[in-house]
Amino acid sequence: MTVSVATSPDEPAGVPSGWESVHAPYRGLRGPLTRAEGLLNTRSGSLALWRRLADAVGDDEACCAAVNDLLAAGVHGLRILPDHGRWRVALLPSPGVEGEEVAALQALALLVEAGGWSRLRRCDRTGCEQLFLDWTNAGSRRVCRRHDRNR
Ligand SMILES: [Zn+2]
Repeated sequence: MTVSVATSPDEPAGVPSGWESVHAPYRGLRGPLTRAEGLLNTRSGSLALWRRLADAVGDDEACCAAVNDLLAAGVHGLRILPDHGRWRVALLPSPGVEGEEVAALQALALLVEAGGWSRLRRCDRTGCEQLFLDWTNAGSRRVCRRHDRNR
């Protein structure tokens, strides 16, 4: 299953597709999850709500509150869409919010729903502050992509 970025007026933009993806190894979500990692590790500009989530890592309730605030700010609705003989729920971006950011948020929420908050972690390498999303089968990744020699 691939990530589809819908571009027609009938489909919301930047929505990851496929229920099949919502379990390890999350293939269909990897594009938007990588985007979410980028947003989590960006410490500048207008990404205050993503920064709040980054600062909350390790505290599940604070992470939950931060993600819900991101959803409230970035999403103005849901649609259900036909997708290759199945159905998928798509988030609709709020005005002024990039579809890509909403896709990243949707992928992060789906990963946490399937795998828990431990899928959102800080790199174990001493001195490294990078956050990463762990989409491995076992949830066994301990270091960020930069420090992972096996990827
Ligand atoms: Zn690292």
